[in-house]
Amino acid sequence: MANMQKAIVYKGPGQFAYEDRPIPEIKNRNDVKIKSYGCAVCGTDVNIFATPQKHPCKQDIIFGHEFCGEVAEVGEGVTDLKPGDKVVIDPHGPCGECDNCLAGLPEACQHVSSRGVFADGGLTNYVVLPKQYCYKVAPETKPELMGVAEPLAGCGCALEKLNVHVGDTACVLGAGPIGLMFIALLKANGCRKIIVSEPIEHRRKLALEVGATRVVNPDTENLQQIVKEETGGLGVDHCVEAVAAMLVDCVYLVRPHGKVLQFGHDELARPEFPVAELLKNEIEVYGGYLGKYYMRKVAQIIESGILPLDKIVTDVIPASRYQEALDLAASRQCGKVFVSMDL
Ligand SMILES: [Zn+2]
Ligand SMILES: [Zn+2]
Repeated sequence: MANMQKAIVYKGPGQFAYEDRPIPEIKNRNDVKIKSYGCAVCGTDVNIFATPQKHPCKQDIIFGHEFCGEVAEVGEGVTDLKPGDKVVIDPHGPCGECDNCLAGLPEACQHVSSRGVFADGGLTNYVVLPKQYCYKVAPETKPELMGVAEPLAGCGCALEKLNVHVGDTACVLGAGPIGLMFIALLKANGCRKIIVSEPIEHRRKLALEVGATRVVNPDTENLQQIVKEETGGLGVDHCVEAVAAMLVDCVYLVRPHGKVLQFGHDELARPEFPVAELLKNEIEVYGGYLGKYYMRKVAQIIESGILPLDKIVTDVIPASRYQEALDLAASRQCGKVFVSMDL
């Protein structure tokens, strides 16, 4: 059929299907029609397809939130984008009209959409979005690197809370795609030591390639002891939790007045917390999640090549083999997996 396109649709716990969906058209003057290049696989996607399910998702939506593409058509109110421009997408785009948006706090938008989780996303050929979801990157930027925009915005935005300085020391728990992005960001921020704990050998190697100064296998080595050795008995300045269930460990790895960032996301994690350690060492604990106001900067980071994103994105798999991409991400024998559109 002429006005239809193939899409990967979420069909309930553990299931997706290839379905025909109408090609969306521009309806509002600020709309942008995007030809999707594809979509990276997120840990959230793995959690959505896990059994039991670890993250909610709306049934029958077009799946995939970490997508990117090329402008195909713009509404009459869009003057800063034109057909052919490459754009990274903020799937949690702000509405631009609610009280928080008007107060300059788009990250706290009261009508936040989550394209690809609770509304139609990017695992299809064409998507129509308001212009404030789209951020232009240089023409030579590779699509698979553009796919990291959404998680990198979350990481970059969260890391600003730690106020990292040149010469600081850091520990990152977990070297999955999110951990790898934090390692690269900490390196770019000038950390002199980045100690990374990761049980999977392949991911420890990736960690070293993107900037870790020491990798630790927590199954066979004593991370706390190694961190003390590496920091003259003190503990690190910053500890990033990129696993989901290891917040407590972070408290024992930072120096007095050290900073902990919880970024690993598991809706079911309920760790018991060592309150006395926290208060006696005056540790600062931050949470990080979405990076909405950070998207402009992320577009600039990606196109500049300042981070080794080509080492973080380890696999490109066509959308016609989506199950393979999900299985690979779930196996953890990879960095970031990008699903390229071939439907
Ligand atoms: Zn994501
Ligand atoms: Zn809003």
